[in-house]
Amino acid sequence: MQNAQKKCLYCDEPLKGRADKKFCDDQCRANYNYHLTKDANNTVRNINRILKKNRALLEEFLGNEKMKKVNSKHLLDKGFQFRFNTHTLQTQKGNYKFCYEFGYLEIEPGKLLIVKNPDLLK
Ligand SMILES: [Zn+2]
Repeated sequence: MQNAQKKCLYCDEPLKGRADKKFCDDQCRANYNYHLTKDANNTVRNINRILKKNRALLEEFLGNEKMKKVNSKHLLDKGFQFRFNTHTLQTQKGNYKFCYEFGYLEIEPGKLLIVKNPDLLK
Protein backbone atom coordinates (compact mmCIF):
# COMPACT_ATOMS: atom_id res chain seq x y z
CA MET A 1 0.00 0.00 0.00
CA GLN A 2 1.21 3.45 -0.85
CA ASN A 3 1.90 5.95 1.89
CA ALA A 4 -0.70 8.61 2.30
CA GLN A 5 0.21 11.76 0.45
CA LYS A 6 2.20 13.98 2.80
CA LYS A 7 0.81 17.42 3.36
CA CYS A 8 2.32 20.76 4.19
CA LEU A 9 2.33 21.27 7.96
CA TYR A 10 1.17 24.84 7.51
CA CYS A 11 -1.35 24.98 4.65
CA ASP A 12 -2.27 21.30 4.33
CA GLU A 13 -1.59 21.20 0.60
CA PRO A 14 -0.20 17.92 -0.76
CA LEU A 15 3.57 18.07 -0.97
CA LYS A 16 5.52 17.37 -4.14
CA GLY A 17 9.17 16.58 -4.33
CA ARG A 18 11.55 15.23 -1.71
CA ALA A 19 10.15 12.67 0.70
CA ASP A 20 11.42 14.57 3.76
CA LYS A 21 9.72 17.81 2.77
CA LYS A 22 7.46 19.28 5.43
CA PHE A 23 6.40 22.53 3.80
CA CYS A 24 5.50 23.77 0.32
CA ASP A 25 8.10 26.49 0.51
CA ASP A 26 9.95 28.88 2.76
CA GLN A 27 6.86 31.02 3.16
CA CYS A 28 4.86 28.13 4.64
CA ARG A 29 7.79 27.21 6.86
CA ALA A 30 8.09 30.79 8.09
CA ASN A 31 4.34 31.05 8.74
CA TYR A 32 4.33 27.77 10.61
CA ASN A 33 7.22 28.81 12.85
CA TYR A 34 5.68 32.23 13.42
CA HIS A 35 2.44 30.68 14.66
CA LEU A 36 4.26 28.18 16.87
CA THR A 37 6.18 30.99 18.52
CA LYS A 38 3.09 33.15 18.76
CA ASP A 39 1.17 30.41 20.59
CA ALA A 40 4.04 29.86 23.02
CA ASN A 41 4.32 33.59 23.62
CA ASN A 42 0.59 33.87 24.22
CA THR A 43 0.73 31.07 26.78
CA VAL A 44 3.57 32.76 28.62
CA ARG A 45 1.81 36.13 28.46
CA ASN A 46 -1.48 34.73 29.77
CA ILE A 47 0.15 32.92 32.67
CA ASN A 48 2.25 35.95 33.52
CA ARG A 49 -0.90 38.04 33.59
CA ILE A 50 -2.54 35.65 36.07
CA LEU A 51 0.56 35.57 38.28
CA LYS A 52 0.84 39.34 38.29
CA LYS A 53 -2.80 39.71 39.17
CA ASN A 54 -2.42 37.18 42.00
CA ARG A 55 0.60 39.09 43.24
CA ALA A 56 -1.22 42.42 43.09
CA LEU A 57 -4.15 40.98 45.07
CA LEU A 58 -1.88 39.58 47.78
CA GLU A 59 -0.12 42.93 48.00
CA GLU A 60 -3.45 44.76 48.18
CA PHE A 61 -4.82 42.51 50.92
CA LEU A 62 -1.63 42.61 52.94
CA GLY A 63 -1.41 46.40 52.80
CA ASN A 64 1.23 47.69 55.19
CA GLU A 65 1.02 44.70 57.52
CA LYS A 66 3.75 42.11 57.87
CA MET A 67 1.24 39.31 57.85
CA LYS A 68 -2.50 39.24 57.66
CA LYS A 69 -5.31 36.71 57.94
CA VAL A 70 -7.91 36.77 55.20
CA ASN A 71 -10.73 34.59 53.98
CA SER A 72 -9.72 32.84 50.78
CA LYS A 73 -13.20 33.66 49.50
CA HIS A 74 -12.31 37.35 49.48
CA LEU A 75 -9.36 36.63 47.23
CA LEU A 76 -11.49 34.42 45.00
CA ASP A 77 -14.11 37.14 44.71
CA LYS A 78 -11.44 39.47 43.36
CA GLY A 79 -10.29 36.96 40.78
CA PHE A 80 -7.40 35.27 42.55
CA GLN A 81 -6.47 31.99 40.84
CA PHE A 82 -5.19 29.55 43.42
CA ARG A 83 -3.79 27.14 40.84
CA PHE A 84 -1.13 29.63 39.79
CA ASN A 85 1.94 30.21 41.94
CA THR A 86 5.56 30.96 41.27
CA HIS A 87 7.00 28.69 43.96
CA THR A 88 6.41 27.13 47.34
CA LEU A 89 8.17 27.28 50.67
CA GLN A 90 8.08 24.36 53.03
CA THR A 91 8.15 25.40 56.71
CA GLN A 92 7.25 23.85 60.04
CA LYS A 93 3.98 25.76 59.92
CA GLY A 94 3.13 24.36 56.53
CA ASN A 95 3.57 24.83 52.84
CA TYR A 96 3.54 28.47 51.75
CA LYS A 97 2.60 29.23 48.19
CA PHE A 98 4.08 32.30 46.61
CA CYS A 99 3.35 34.65 43.76
CA TYR A 100 6.69 36.39 43.54
CA GLU A 101 7.49 37.93 46.94
CA PHE A 102 3.98 37.57 48.34
CA GLY A 103 2.87 34.28 49.78
CA TYR A 104 0.10 32.66 51.71
CA LEU A 105 -0.41 29.74 54.01
CA GLU A 106 -3.70 28.02 54.61
CA ILE A 107 -3.98 28.12 58.40
CA GLU A 108 -7.41 26.55 58.50
CA PRO A 109 -9.91 25.69 55.77
CA GLY A 110 -10.81 28.90 53.95
CA LYS A 111 -8.47 31.01 56.09
CA LEU A 112 -5.17 32.23 54.76
CA LEU A 113 -2.21 33.97 56.26
CA ILE A 114 -0.67 36.37 53.76
CA VAL A 115 3.01 37.21 54.14
CA LYS A 116 5.68 39.09 52.29
CA ASN A 117 9.10 37.64 51.82
CA PRO A 118 11.37 39.91 49.82
CA ASP A 119 14.46 37.86 50.69
CA LEU A 120 13.71 34.89 48.49
CA LEU A 121 16.56 35.39 46.09
CA LYS A 122 19.22 35.88 48.73
ZN1 LIG B 1 2.17 25.01 2.47
